[in-house]
Amino acid sequence: MTPEALFHELLGLGLNWEVSASRFEPASSTVFLELRERPSLWESARCPQDGGRVFCYDHPEELTWRHLNVFQHRCEIHGRLPRGKCRQCGHVFRVRPPWEGLSIHFTKEFEAFALLLIREMPMAKVAEVTQESDMRLWRMLFKHVEGAYGQADFSQVCCVGVDEMGMRKGQHYLSVFADLVAKRVLFATEGRDQETWSAFIQALEAHNGHRHALTQVSMDMSRAYQQGVKKNCRNVQVVFDKFHVLAHASQRVDQVRRAELRLGGAEARESLRRSQWLWRKNPENLSPQEQVRLVKIQTRNLYTAKAYQMRLVLQDIYRSPSAHVAQRRFRAWCRWVRWVARRSRAWIFSPMLKVAQLVQNHLAGILAHWKWGLTNAFMEGLNSVFSAVKRRARGYRSPVYLITMLYLVAGKLRLPHT
Ligand SMILES: [Zn+2]
Repeated sequence: MTPEALFHELLGLGLNWEVSASRFEPASSTVFLELRERPSLWESARCPQDGGRVFCYDHPEELTWRHLNVFQHRCEIHGRLPRGKCRQCGHVFRVRPPWEGLSIHFTKEFEAFALLLIREMPMAKVAEVTQESDMRLWRMLFKHVEGAYGQADFSQVCCVGVDEMGMRKGQHYLSVFADLVAKRVLFATEGRDQETWSAFIQALEAHNGHRHALTQVSMDMSRAYQQGVKKNCRNVQVVFDKFHVLAHASQRVDQVRRAELRLGGAEARESLRRSQWLWRKNPENLSPQEQVRLVKIQTRNLYTAKAYQMRLVLQDIYRSPSAHVAQRRFRAWCRWVRWVARRSRAWIFSPMLKVAQLVQNHLAGILAHWKWGLTNAFMEGLNSVFSAVKRRARGYRSPVYLITMLYLVAGKLRLPHT
């Protein structure tokens, strides 16, 4: 068997194409394969416009496709692709060879391999490993994700979660919408206002979903999202998810800590310095040293410790067996926070009073957690997925890169797209 015949078999070229030459260049460690069509191609090729019979029109400039390495050596396919011309309508068209991927620089096999790498490591690293230009790889990725996303079907979507994710330090946010049942990202867009919701609804309906098929939406308590839902969806029960309620409470505890650090006595300042991480965790997640420190701080009767306790009690309410019990406990919690605030210096607890106000104002949405049994576990997990996505797209500033990478990693798309 000649090397050309061997490569013909390995590439699975079939009857219409052949390897006309193969050579290895040690200096560049590259295997070059010259490919061309066989006359039989013109017996089966048809005009893309009307299906008419075609003949070979010409062979314009030579093209190169990157293929999978042969052993450790780079492999390139070269060839002058023929153009066909229709006997009926005279249409001239480029013949698409069977090995070509979605981008004209890579073969299908190379693209499939590169997609696997891109899922696992930063794009800059993939470019280094494959010795390809990062922009070519990005363009290839865009084509696959766009193609696969275009075919995604959202007709079964009924439970949606939405969350905002920070793109960079500063005020740049993506709103990410996910299907909480199928556990996949549906849509992401820049911004976090009412328009964000309209954009999502448009995408949903472009993929066979329907706005009034949505029955549950899990989200934070931002007014823009609430208005967006109200404006677009008729049958939705909004669920304010546990994660955001507790995160909100944690932030307020931190405000109390900072106020106390600023205005409290020397003892308070000494206790609270560099303690912010302590108050963000649950007691069971603290290291032994942190636990000792926490116990020590708690004996000092600080406002921060009280606020922390309020947060823990709030969290414990989420263990209630029913919405009915939870409702009673949420109300009691609000009364308790107000009572404590009144009894002590109210201004330092004002952040906690805000939490109480928030809970009271959004109680129906908060209690929907029990009715629907919706935990936002998927959205929470998405935060770490998103961090990984940011690492993969590090160094590329436009949100398009991030969104494409997010769809690749968490969109459950059919890839490679063909
Ligand atoms: Zn034609």
